Amino acid sequence: MIRTRFAPSPTGSMHIGSLRTAAYAYALAKHSGGQFLLRIEDTDQKREVKGSTEKIYSVLQKFQLIWDEEPVIQSHRLEIYQTAAKRLIQSGHAVSENGAVRLKIPPGETISFHDFILDHDVSWKSQDVPPAILLKSDGFPTYHLAMPVDDHDMGITHIIRSVEWLPSTPIHVLVFKNLGFDLPAIGHPSAILDPGGGKLSKRKGNVSVEQFLDDGYLPEALLNFVVLQGWAPKDNRELFTLAEFVKYFDPSGFQKSNPVMNFDKLNWFNGHYIRQKTDTELTQLVKAFVKSDISDTQITQIVSLIKDRLVKLSDFEKLASPFISPSVDIDSQLFTSSAKRSLASIASVLETTTSSKPDELNAEFKKEIERLNIKTGDYFMDMRVAIMGSKFTPPITESTLIIGIPESLQRVKNALGQLG
Ligand code: GLU
Repeated sequence: MIRTRFAPSPTGSMHIGSLRTAAYAYALAKHSGGQFLLRIEDTDQKREVKGSTEKIYSVLQKFQLIWDEEPVIQSHRLEIYQTAAKRLIQSGHAVSENGAVRLKIPPGETISFHDFILDHDVSWKSQDVPPAILLKSDGFPTYHLAMPVDDHDMGITHIIRSVEWLPSTPIHVLVFKNLGFDLPAIGHPSAILDPGGGKLSKRKGNVSVEQFLDDGYLPEALLNFVVLQGWAPKDNRELFTLAEFVKYFDPSGFQKSNPVMNFDKLNWFNGHYIRQKTDTELTQLVKAFVKSDISDTQITQIVSLIKDRLVKLSDFEKLASPFISPSVDIDSQLFTSSAKRSLASIASVLETTTSSKPDELNAEFKKEIERLNIKTGDYFMDMRVAIMGSKFTPPITESTLIIGIPESLQRVKNALGQLG
C-alpha cells in the first residue's frame, strides 16, 4: 500500500508551493487507496511561529486534504532521534563533537538515487556531499536525521518534497542506509517560478495560501490551479475537483520544466468555481468580505446579477456598491444628449409604477421610448449612469428593482438636478 506524507514546518503561513506538495502526496496515495499522513516538523525551535501548527491543520481541512492517523509531532519524540543518533555513532557512521552529532561521509563513494518525479538517476561523489549535523547539542535532531527516522517509522513508501531538498538527498540516502532502513521512493516536483523571474517568493508578491483565501480565492480554484503547476494529465483536461484529481492522477504526468505562476489563470479558475456556486452558497461565502450593512436577501439579489463579473469574493463589495449607496459625483460627460428628456421620463415612470417584476417595468420604459422617439440604447444608458453612476452595469431594470423604486427615483432626480 502506498503511504505518503506531508511534512510542513510550523514556521508561518503556508506557501502555495507547499499546498501543491500536499496535494500531490495526497493524490499519489489516494489514487490507489493508500494513506496520506501528516507530520509536523517542529525541531527548529528558533524558526517556529506560534499558532502555525493549528493553521496547517485548518488550511489542509479547507482544501479537504484530510490526513490518516494522528499527526506525528517531532518535538514530542526527541528520544527516538537521540537513540538513532547513538546507533549511528556506535556503528561508526557518525561522530559526536561538542555535544552535536555529525554524519561521517565515506570517502571515494558514489551516492545515487532515482528521482521518481524528475524520472532520472541523480548521483554525487562523496567529496561533494556537504557536511551534515544530525543532532544538535540541545538534543534536537536536524531535518537530516529526523526525516529518515520518521519516514521509516511511519512506513512511508513515497516522499514528495520541495526541490530545495534535492542537494541534501545524498545525506538522507546515507542515513537511511546506515540505520538499516529501506530507501522510500523520493521525488522532487519542479519549483514554481515567479512571472518576473526566479523562484516564487514572499518578497515578490503573494505566495501565502491563507492570504489567497483572505483575498477571496476559493479553495477549489486554488487547488485546481496549483496542481496544474508542474503536472498535466494526458488529455490536457483543465478542470479538476480534488476527487477528480485523485482519480486521474498519474505520476508520469509530472513536468520537468519549471512552471511559471500565472495569476490570470488563477483568476480564470476562481471565476469558474464562483459561477458553479448557487446564489445562496455565494451569499454565505461573500458575507465574510462585506463591510457594508446589508441583509442576506440583498446580497443574494445582488450576487445573482453580478456573479458573472466576480473574479474574487472580495470584488463583491466594489461591484455591489452602486446598489448600496449612490455615487457621489456623476461624470456629466457620461450622459447622452437626450439625457434630460430620458431622465424626466424615467422619473415619471418610477413615480407612478406599481411593477415589481423586471419585465413589467421594462415594458413601461419601452412605451416611453416609443412615445419620445429616443434611441433605446441612449435611454437605458442615461438610466444606468443616473442610477448606477456608470455606463457598465448589470441589467439596469433588475438593478433598479433591487435598489428599490424610491431610492432609484431619488437618484434619477439628483441626476436631473445635476444636469440643471
Ligand atoms: N519540513 C520540511 C519542509 O517544510 C519538509 C520536507 C519534507 O517534506 O521532507 O520543507
